[in-house]
Amino acid sequence: MAAKKLNLRKRYELLTRGMGWETSYQKMDDVFPYDTFEGIKITDWDKWEDPFRLTMDAYWKFQAEKEKKLYAIIDSFAQNNGQTNLADASYLSAIKLFITGVTPLEYAAHHGFSHLGRHFRGEGARIACQMQAIDELRHAQTQIHTISHYNKHFTGLHNPFHQSDRVWYLSVPKSFGEDALTAGPFEFITSISFAFEYVLTNLLFVPFMSGAAYNGDMATTTFGFSAQSDESRHMTLGLEIIKFMVEQHEDNLPIIQRWIDKHFWRAYRVLALVSAMQDYMLTNTPMSWKEAWDIYFVENGGALFEDLGRYGLKMPKHHELATAEAEHLSHQVWSVFCALGNATGFHTFEPSEEKMAWLSEKYPNTFDKYYRPRFELWKRQKAEGTFEYLASLPQLCQVCQIPMIFTEVETDPMQISFRNTKYKGDNYHFCSDGCKDVFENEPEKYVQAWLPVHQIFQGNCGGATVPEVLEWYKFQPEDGGDYFDSLDYRRWQEWHGNAEAAKTGS
Ligand code: FE
Ligand code: ZN
Repeated sequence: MAAKKLNLRKRYELLTRGMGWETSYQKMDDVFPYDTFEGIKITDWDKWEDPFRLTMDAYWKFQAEKEKKLYAIIDSFAQNNGQTNLADASYLSAIKLFITGVTPLEYAAHHGFSHLGRHFRGEGARIACQMQAIDELRHAQTQIHTISHYNKHFTGLHNPFHQSDRVWYLSVPKSFGEDALTAGPFEFITSISFAFEYVLTNLLFVPFMSGAAYNGDMATTTFGFSAQSDESRHMTLGLEIIKFMVEQHEDNLPIIQRWIDKHFWRAYRVLALVSAMQDYMLTNTPMSWKEAWDIYFVENGGALFEDLGRYGLKMPKHHELATAEAEHLSHQVWSVFCALGNATGFHTFEPSEEKMAWLSEKYPNTFDKYYRPRFELWKRQKAEGTFEYLASLPQLCQVCQIPMIFTEVETDPMQISFRNTKYKGDNYHFCSDGCKDVFENEPEKYVQAWLPVHQIFQGNCGGATVPEVLEWYKFQPEDGGDYFDSLDYRRWQEWHGNAEAAKTGS
């Protein structure tokens, strides 16, 4: 008898039927010890709707197709010396920051979803998480190929995994990932799949990947779009888990709302790094951070939460502040990188005249008034040889770990936003009400934070001087500093036949 061809849905049913049996030799709670302690009540896992009903064999076939295309483009980029066709070598600063910050985060997501793929009681949710775990591992791998290519031609990409555990600004995405990883499974999936991937991922990928395309960077565009195609599945998982949890039990709603508030704010703070990449580090920028925020969060996010209103869910707390900050965020973040540009693994530079004109146009209320004078001063100082990097280490926010650079955008944009709270006799500092709330909900978690500056002062980072710390980071002297004094700049000039500039720098 010829084997009957089954459709995907049937195959999926066969695949999952019986995989979710009730254990009898061991108690279910012993086999699945992690999915109850957070207080989320699930009465019927069978109500879980897996929107994809993707079988493992179909999954591998789809993914293999993607990989074939991706590696074909990566190979041809390498063979044709695609790096010489970038818009400018200074563009690489954006990639260095992105790829050293995000790649370890992809790997952390792989780790987290593997855990969920084992520990959810429902088999549909388990399979979805297993697939996402493999996706995230793939994302980390494809990004490592791009790191490997650019590492042959540019500085700053030789030790990303060593640096992820140590460097002050890489601690920002790392602490976000570890916050989610050290939570329970339902909070983890709310953080990564919903707050990050459903609500905010477009702000990371769409403008940034089109940014890569705008600057001739096929090595990044490729992994970006390949990851983005998995992302639609991840986003659906994010939305599904939220709806599933609220529908299961009324007690779940306040817990989920608190997680949405928390992880929206945590993820949004990580994206502050992206705002600087987008507005300052990309040579050619397809859209400003503010424009992206308005489209992807205010409009799309607003519509999403209007929809979720029928489940009783509200817009994340402090979203108005995030929107008010949109006119300031990138300028403040790029300023701190420029001021500490001797301690970065990428090059910093003041915006060109052309870029400043673009920034004035995109930020008519803020750039000329607050930020242009600062960059012009630094430019003048560099020309005169009087520019100096910050000599002291910045105070960090206990939660997001970003230096205290954010300001009171709603009342006085030149006033640092400074919050603090006492806990068990110690004083803790925060950049915003958002971070302060996160701390006060779980102080025992955040008092343990590994804060890069505190660690330096405690003598745990190779020494007390900048060179000692940089050595401990495994930053080479040529990795940081001003772009126009850099090896990347000189090499770029050489490739483009500009021998004089290649010798002397700017
Ligand atoms: Fe990913
Ligand atoms: Zn903060």
